[in-house]
Amino acid sequence: MTSHLPTRVPVALTIATSDPSGGAGIQADLKAFSALGAYGTAVLVALTAQNTRGVTGIHVVPPAFIAEQVDTLVADVRVDAVKIGMLADATVVHTVAEALRRHRLPSVVLDPVMVASSGDRLLTEDAVALVRTELLPLAGLVTPNLPEAAALLDTSPARTPAEVERQAADLLALGVPRVLLKGGHGDDPDESADLYVDADGAEWLRAPRIRTRHTHGTGCTLSSAITALRPQRPDWRTAVGDAKDYLTGALTAADSLDVGGGHGPVHH
Ligand code: PLP
Repeated sequence: MTSHLPTRVPVALTIATSDPSGGAGIQADLKAFSALGAYGTAVLVALTAQNTRGVTGIHVVPPAFIAEQVDTLVADVRVDAVKIGMLADATVVHTVAEALRRHRLPSVVLDPVMVASSGDRLLTEDAVALVRTELLPLAGLVTPNLPEAAALLDTSPARTPAEVERQAADLLALGVPRVLLKGGHGDDPDESADLYVDADGAEWLRAPRIRTRHTHGTGCTLSSAITALRPQRPDWRTAVGDAKDYLTGALTAADSLDVGGGHGPVHH
């Protein structure tokens, strides 16, 4: 007998920071969640004042109120997957780690945001070690770019495929079960290759490099796309591959936007 029940829509939660220009942060996450068939919820840990040229200020939510947002939400709403984005400072990292532990939230995608493409710092330097020790072991997947992987490992950015493979393995050894090490900051003019690694081995995911200066929100969009898709796909690898295809589409469409005079957002 055919069921006429609607398929259950997954609930995705982003714990991240506001970008008023709409290209990155919470705003990008909610757009990707909606576009990919998830119901979006959001806990804000900080606000930025920013446009496409840069960040002029960061205002952090008091830790007790971050905890209260999570506690109140999950007391009522089932959460199927979680994305962790920009966390600003060490107190926020600790508060979010405690909330994840308290509620045993499933399918956590950790985007270890540190520095914006504009060059502005989005995570204080002293918080990096805490991301490594407190948050990495709670994540199902971590999605660093080349500089973020290097910072987490306290080394310099990988320059060759062999170095990328070694750093991804070193991240696994820190207690996270899956790593997507993103190659977008690499210098290959034709291709953007990311390395996906889990207990079954490593796999390069390749996509043509899209020639656009409008790349604001690329990392946020990819990690939130994975979060939206994970409950709708049989495994992490498939969710990651489909999310990368979605990001390639958003980069391809970026030039159709006319938002700001700096590095404009991807379009999705
Ligand atoms: N602002 C916020 C709130 C973010 O979360 C991020 C990235 O995660 C950025 C800005 C930086 O985005 P991008 O480096 O893509 O410009």
